[in-house]
Amino acid sequence: MIKRLPQEVISRIASGQIASSPTAVLKELIENALDANPKRVSVSVKDPFNFKVVDDGCGVPFSELPLTVERFTTSKLSSLDDFNRISTFGFRGEALYAVSQFSRLEIKSRHRRERVGGRLLVEGGELKELTPIPFSGGTSVSVSNLFFNAPVRRKATGPRERSRMERLFKKYALAFPEVEFRFDKSFYPASSLEERVLQLLGNKVSFQELKGSTFLLLYSREKGGVKELFVNRRPVFMPEVEKLLEEFRVKSFILFLNFPPSSVDFNVDPSKERLLLKEESLLKELEEALSGEFRLPKPKGGFVKASQRVELTSPLELIGSDGTLLIAHDALHYYFFDQHLVHERVNFEELLAALKRGELPLRKLLPPVELPLEFAETLDALSVPYSVEGSRLKVREAPELLTHADFNSLLKGEPPESVAAEACRRAVKSGYRFKEFRELRQLFERYLRCEEREFCPHGRPIYYKIKKQKVYSQLGRQFKLKL
Ligand code: ADP
Ligand code: MG
Repeated sequence: MIKRLPQEVISRIASGQIASSPTAVLKELIENALDANPKRVSVSVKDPFNFKVVDDGCGVPFSELPLTVERFTTSKLSSLDDFNRISTFGFRGEALYAVSQFSRLEIKSRHRRERVGGRLLVEGGELKELTPIPFSGGTSVSVSNLFFNAPVRRKATGPRERSRMERLFKKYALAFPEVEFRFDKSFYPASSLEERVLQLLGNKVSFQELKGSTFLLLYSREKGGVKELFVNRRPVFMPEVEKLLEEFRVKSFILFLNFPPSSVDFNVDPSKERLLLKEESLLKELEEALSGEFRLPKPKGGFVKASQRVELTSPLELIGSDGTLLIAHDALHYYFFDQHLVHERVNFEELLAALKRGELPLRKLLPPVELPLEFAETLDALSVPYSVEGSRLKVREAPELLTHADFNSLLKGEPPESVAAEACRRAVKSGYRFKEFRELRQLFERYLRCEEREFCPHGRPIYYKIKKQKVYSQLGRQFKLKL
């Protein structure tokens, strides 16, 4: 029989989701403190069941104190319209209610425009006290004996909870460097982001900065276990962004994404750690900047949808060449390509492709070459004819490029050197001026179709790039990203 649940059971179930652990409760208290626009936030954790968050923010009017612990009461959201422009952490109005169900909760506060403060005490959901008190300002929320009435939860709280709480605290301290924080005896004065990173992480990782209008990325190729991601200053979990950074071999990062509140939906679960983006293209600028910073745009695959890719791969525009360097640019960088290496790379990939397709004329190999049976696949891939003789493969003829030395390389698992040598021999030498821009552009387009565009077959880097921003600032000009 289907029955409607009594109200108290419903709210107990919902509260259980919010007050799921001491860390989850602390998160709600820190977010409330930050929503109150404070200069200072101080967290004291006696143990995972007894802790306190104090702020010097706007405070709660005395008459509204009892509302803080009622369910679905909030000062942050009043209509469905507001939903699209939320910039506060809270909006569901259930956190303090939930915490008050599971602990002895004491709130002391004085509102900015009131002379007297108030003290509210709730135990296991029961209002015990509401009295005016003198209070210096701001709000102090103190949780005692958390989960006294939820033994399973209390037992499930492990020895690492305290450090989880501290780690959580650090995320907010990182997102709000302009706020002074305390965590027990540790003190983090208000500062710039750079200083806050140092305060929290020391010199463990040295970060570089990459910036756009929708993101600020501090990144490092060093391992350091630092992986912090914020959307509109909210610590969040976005596996797709982590994957993107991984693809660019970023090992440690602190990433701040900033999107218009109307384009992000945090109301996926009560913890608001997961989110939905209204458009995937919000991540385009980040992806573009990463491609610009670390390598040329990838020819295929990757993170952005095919429909957006056209824009991402096309902006590399050729400017010209002085015979030695070929110069191009995209939205963020100027690129200097070694013209000889560009040509060499093109020749190499085209020759290899022709070899694989069996398009090169065959020539007798004297003396014939013998290879173990397991090389059959390699030979097939290069369209080299062979016959099986006993337990060996015998090659009597080979595409004209391949020499005895190449078969030795193949035996060692290395690519055939003759192809690279031939690619180099056929490439224009440094100083060669193409007569027509059209020819230069054709070469460049062939290069952009190459699978590997970073290095020549011998491992030398093919290009060097410099941020436009750098060049512009040398000229006293402001750089604006044009997408
Ligand atoms: P929400 O944050 O979703 O609004 P909460 O249950 O966390 O819901 O808080 C309820 C209300 O209590 C808030 O809307 C706010 O008005 C008030 N409040 C809670 N903590 C503080 C604080 N530290 N400073 C000022 N007001 C607070
Ligand atoms: Mg809240």
